[in-house]
Amino acid sequence: MPAVRILLALLLAVASLPALARDALEETPAKILFGAAREPAPLEARSIGSYAKGCMAGAVALPVDGPYWQAMRLSRNRNWGTPLLVDFLEKLAADGAKKDGWPGLLVGDMAQPRGGPMLTGHASHQIGLDADIWLTPMPDRRLSAKEREDLSAVSMVDARRRRVDPSVWTPARTRIIRRAALDPRVSRIFVNPAIKKQLCAEAGADRAWLSKVRPWWGHDFHFHVRLDCPRGWTGCVPQKAPEPGDGCGAELDSWLAPPKPPKPGAKPPVVRPPRPVTLADLPAACRTVLLAGEADARATAPGAPPVEAGAAGPLPRKKPAD
Ligand SMILES: [Zn+2]
Repeated sequence: MPAVRILLALLLAVASLPALARDALEETPAKILFGAAREPAPLEARSIGSYAKGCMAGAVALPVDGPYWQAMRLSRNRNWGTPLLVDFLEKLAADGAKKDGWPGLLVGDMAQPRGGPMLTGHASHQIGLDADIWLTPMPDRRLSAKEREDLSAVSMVDARRRRVDPSVWTPARTRIIRRAALDPRVSRIFVNPAIKKQLCAEAGADRAWLSKVRPWWGHDFHFHVRLDCPRGWTGCVPQKAPEPGDGCGAELDSWLAPPKPPKPGAKPPVVRPPRPVTLADLPAACRTVLLAGEADARATAPGAPPVEAGAAGPLPRKKPAD
């Protein structure tokens, strides 16, 4: 979106000016600032903040083509993640093809080059540890860039009957989700409640992996994998471990129960749109991430504001590649 890039360029150009101009940076919704970043922050890789309120330093791109995967919707520029996430996807893709009869992954949204809130879709996917994987297997040819934009994902769910659609669901889908859940780096996998129900039915005696697979609305044409914060990344806010047990009982049934009809005469709740998240709402180190590289050119300019390292500690520079 060129207009957004122009806006960011203007904001960055004025960020070294005193108070008034800096206010523009403070007041601009963070999704516009982070949505305009086209390149990763040249800092050591790190996830900062929580999955739904944070950013990422030192991102790497998942190559758009691999032996067992293809990245989709390339125009969104969301095939970025921590090196950990890219490594996870490449391993899952290869293992799924060799062991589960899943020919390859179609990879949907990961994160923006510097993570952060997005202009469209997704509350999470902000710190480079989340990825959406289509429940449609990779075809046996390279898709064109246009096909990667246009190809429709297939819903696996018969919403009316609140179950998977037997005309599209196959056990190979259970196997690839199980494969992802068995990776010790994975914290959660989100799937539609109807899909979780199907996984519960197909799992047999081997059920421990089901605890990581959580029901959530949507997620009917893809599954969402979330990795844990790696040890040692201070400032990365993990989720609690999932409840033990397979999660196939009463709680899952409550997701699948028909909605209760509203009480007669009850007014629909008033939903106010939330105030947009700004830089001040994100961890302080996300300011460094946003301005890294962009700010260097002005670092010696008189009046340039100090680059804040944030409560989580200074951000180390990326080591030069050998
Ligand atoms: Zn997702």
